Amino acid sequence: SWEIDWLKNRAGITPNRIAVVDGDTKECWTYAQLNDRANQLAAYFLSLGIQKGDRIVLVSPNHISYFDLYFACEKIGAIFVPLNWRLSNAEIQYIIRDCLPSLIAYHSDVKELIGNIVAFSTLKVDSQSYAEHLLFEKEFQCTHPIQKEDPLAIIYTGGTTGNPKGVVLTHQSIFCNSTNTILSWNLNGNDTTLTVLPMFHTGGLFSLTIPLLQIGGKVVFTSKFDPEKTVDLLNGELCTIVLLVPTMHHMVIETSAFQHSEFPSMHTFLSGGAPCPHVIYQAYEQKGLTFKEGYGLTEAGPNNFYMDPSDVSNKKGSVGKPMLFNEALLINDDGTEADPDEVGELLIKGYHVFDHYWNNPEQTKATKVKGWLHTGDLAKKDKDGYFYIVGRKKDMIITGGENVYPLEVEHVLAEHKYVSEVAVVGVSHDKWGEIVVAYIAPKRENTIYEDELKAFCQQKLGGYKVPKKFIFVEELPKTHVGKIDKKQLMGIEIFDLD
Ligand code: ATP
Repeated sequence: SWEIDWLKNRAGITPNRIAVVDGDTKECWTYAQLNDRANQLAAYFLSLGIQKGDRIVLVSPNHISYFDLYFACEKIGAIFVPLNWRLSNAEIQYIIRDCLPSLIAYHSDVKELIGNIVAFSTLKVDSQSYAEHLLFEKEFQCTHPIQKEDPLAIIYTGGTTGNPKGVVLTHQSIFCNSTNTILSWNLNGNDTTLTVLPMFHTGGLFSLTIPLLQIGGKVVFTSKFDPEKTVDLLNGELCTIVLLVPTMHHMVIETSAFQHSEFPSMHTFLSGGAPCPHVIYQAYEQKGLTFKEGYGLTEAGPNNFYMDPSDVSNKKGSVGKPMLFNEALLINDDGTEADPDEVGELLIKGYHVFDHYWNNPEQTKATKVKGWLHTGDLAKKDKDGYFYIVGRKKDMIITGGENVYPLEVEHVLAEHKYVSEVAVVGVSHDKWGEIVVAYIAPKRENTIYEDELKAFCQQKLGGYKVPKKFIFVEELPKTHVGKIDKKQLMGIEIFDLD
C-alpha cells in the first residue's frame, strides 16, 4: 500500500515555515497549519460517510480551499475533481453527470452557476459551513488503505478538441511528476512560486504548486490574473520561479512595471501550455532574465522535459530533453521511429503518465498504447537529443499535397512589428484540399494590410506556406487558461479564392 502522508511528514520537518500565501489578502498558512486543516477536513469528510474512491468536486477561483480539499482527498483516498468556474451551466452538468461526485464544494462567487445543479450534499467554501470543518478533530482514522494505483485527481481537459475528458491521475503519477520536477528543475525549500494559472488546470496545480510544497517551498496564489499585479507579486513576495502561458507572458512584458523591474529574486521564468512567440523570449533575454519553455499536457503529469541552464542560449525554441524518469519517442505514421530532425508524433512513457480517461475506455485505448501516451503533438529531435514542439498533429495543414505546420507560419507573422496575436489554421478548399488562413490581431492603433503581410511572409517562407487569406480581428478567442482557441476559428467559410 501507499502509506506516504508526505504533508504530515513535511509538517513534521518544517512546521513553522510558510507554505501558502494568499497573494490577494496576504493571509499565510504554515506547513503545520496546512496539515491540520487537511486532517480536520478529512475527519469531516469521513463523518459524512465519504469513502475511498468517492469524487469531491471543487468549483472555485484559486483559493486556500484547493489546498485543503486536495490534501484531505489525498489523506482519505477520495478523488479531487477541480472544475473550471468559468464553464457554462451545461458544461458543468455534463461533467457532474460524468463523475457523479459525493460532494460539491463551491466558492460563494459561483453560487449561481452551481445553484440549480446541486442535487448532492454540498459544502460551501468561504462560508460558515466551510469554517465549521475546522472544529473537527485533527486526528482521523482512515480504514481504507491507499494503493499507489488509486486515483487521486481527475482533471477535465479544456476541451479544445471536443467534449471534456476526465484525465485520471493516480497517487503514483502525481508523486512521480513531483519527484521528476523537483529533481530536474532543481527545486528546493528556498523556492517561491506564484500560482496565477488556475488550479483547476494541470498547469496551476501540478506544474509547480504541488512539487514545490513537497520539497518545502512557498506558494503564493492569486485568484485573478492581472499583469501589473503579477509583476508586483513576483517582486514583493520574492518569488524565484513562475509558470505562465504565452498570452499571460505577452501581457506581462507589455506592462511598464515589467520595463522598470529587475526581478532580483527570480531565477526562472517558464512558459508552457502553448507555443511561445519569439518576442517573449527576447523580452526576457534583453533584461538578462532566464526564460525557458516547458512542454506539458494533462495526461502526462504535466511536466516532461528539462532544459539544462547551460543550453538555454544555444538551443533556443527547444523544450529540452526528457526528464529523469520519462521516456520520449518520435514516430512516423507507420509507427517507425523518426530520424533526427524529422517531424514525428511525440509519445511519452513513465510513471507520471495518466491512468485512464474516466468512463471512456475507447479513448483510453486509443491514447495509451502499450504504456506509451500518444500526445497528438508533433515534434522533432536534433542530433544532440533536444526536442522541439512543432504543433498539434490535427492542426497540420495539407495544401496542394504539401505539409504546412501552422506554428512555423505563426512564428514568422508574430515577428511583424504591428502584429499582436496570430493564429494560422487550415480551411477546406475544393482545389487545394486545404488552404492556409491567418487570423491576425494587430497591435492597438495600427492598421496592417493583407499585401504587406503576404510580402513579409514571402521573404521568409516557401510559397505554399504563405497564407492565402488574412482575417483581421480585434482579439483572438482564448480558452479558460488563456490559450488561443483554434476550435472557435475553424469552420468558417472562405469565399473569393481561386
Ligand atoms: P485538449 O482539451 O484538446 O486536450 P488542452 O489544451 O485543454 O487540449 P492541456 O493538457 O491543457 O490540454 O494542454 C496540453 C497541450 O498544450 C499539448 O498537447 C500541446 O498541444 C500544447 N502545449 C503544451 N506546451 C506546449 C509548448 N511548449 N509548445 C507548444 N504546444 C504546447
